[in-house]
Amino acid sequence: MENNWIVAKFGGSSVRDAQAMLRCCQIIENNPKIKVVVISATQNTTNQLETVSKTAQVGDGMGLELVVNEIINKHIYIARELFTSPAVLLELEVLCGELKALGALILKDRLCSPATMDELNSLGERMSSLLFADLLRLRIPKKIVQLLDARKIIKTNSDFQKAEPQIELIAKNCESQILPTINDETLFVTQGFIGSDSEDCTTTLGREGSDYSATLIGEGVSASLVQIWTDVTGIASCDPRLVDEVKFIKTISYDEATALASLGAKVLFPSTLLPTKRKNIPVFVGSSLYPDRGGTLITQEHDCAFSLKAISLLENKDGAFVSFVGTHIDKKNDLKNILLSYLGADCFQFTKVNIHSITFKIDQSKLEKSLAIKKAHLALSKFI
Ligand code: ASP
Ligand code: MG
Repeated sequence: MENNWIVAKFGGSSVRDAQAMLRCCQIIENNPKIKVVVISATQNTTNQLETVSKTAQVGDGMGLELVVNEIINKHIYIARELFTSPAVLLELEVLCGELKALGALILKDRLCSPATMDELNSLGERMSSLLFADLLRLRIPKKIVQLLDARKIIKTNSDFQKAEPQIELIAKNCESQILPTINDETLFVTQGFIGSDSEDCTTTLGREGSDYSATLIGEGVSASLVQIWTDVTGIASCDPRLVDEVKFIKTISYDEATALASLGAKVLFPSTLLPTKRKNIPVFVGSSLYPDRGGTLITQEHDCAFSLKAISLLENKDGAFVSFVGTHIDKKNDLKNILLSYLGADCFQFTKVNIHSITFKIDQSKLEKSLAIKKAHLALSKFI
């Protein structure tokens, strides 16, 4: 029999406050196929944890206290609004104590090693998942909600802050800790982003890495679908923050979505689709604010003919680059010149082409990049 299990990941904006968490809870309640829930830190908390480290390292005791209190108060406020149980409030207090202690340690040493940073960063996901699991217990009493420490599942190497997952160990852990009860009324809740190395030291997969955690677990349990719930209704023809008139994409292939992510689109963490591609598991990206508006489904399927779907903007030390992403791009006759005729050859310079993308460098002395991206989207609109 085919597995019919969904792993659902909720990003920081989706769990930013009590109302947002309630919306995620409703999505889970409405879909009994969701068996594993992966939670990010609440919005901006990971940034604040980085500020904890920075203020402490420079000896700014006041700044440190301020940001530590902000993080603690934010979570206590959510807990109050959600009627979090007294036992879980005590657990939250323990995590707040850990946060203060780590801050004090960094302040004393004026030093935060990558390992300490990962330990500190893990608090964001550990706090949000603790509160979210308790909410699920309250709202879906027929389920047995089990909060799993992701560090017991996501084993990684010791490359702190950008740790590499160990696929076979993760598969084994999923098999022993999740699969035996996945068909019962158990609902697993775990943290995105964090893992642990062979010494059980906390590691993280890199900023925005929770998507990757979800697909790694999806692979480990052979899920039928991984859902990534965020604040946009799927993958768009361009980042909606850069261009107004974007079009949302209904279906896209793993390779196209990976090209987009690695060429600068912020919608997915770049390694996200590797595990699901290995096991041919579709990935859905949708908005937890508007779950009924649909989203993007990412699958193995490719268009058989040339097509363009989206553009992305990448900035690095070599400049700003705009890429057009799609399929069979290298087969389309004269595409480079056709695109340049729309873009203006004076402001854009061709850099590379392959099967899923064609990239141009923006001459920023002639054209501001915000205008360049609008122009590129206009060029894309001739094809979509
Ligand atoms: N909380 C982490 C971050 O903000 C991971 C994630 O949200 O994906 O980078
Ligand atoms: Mg995030």
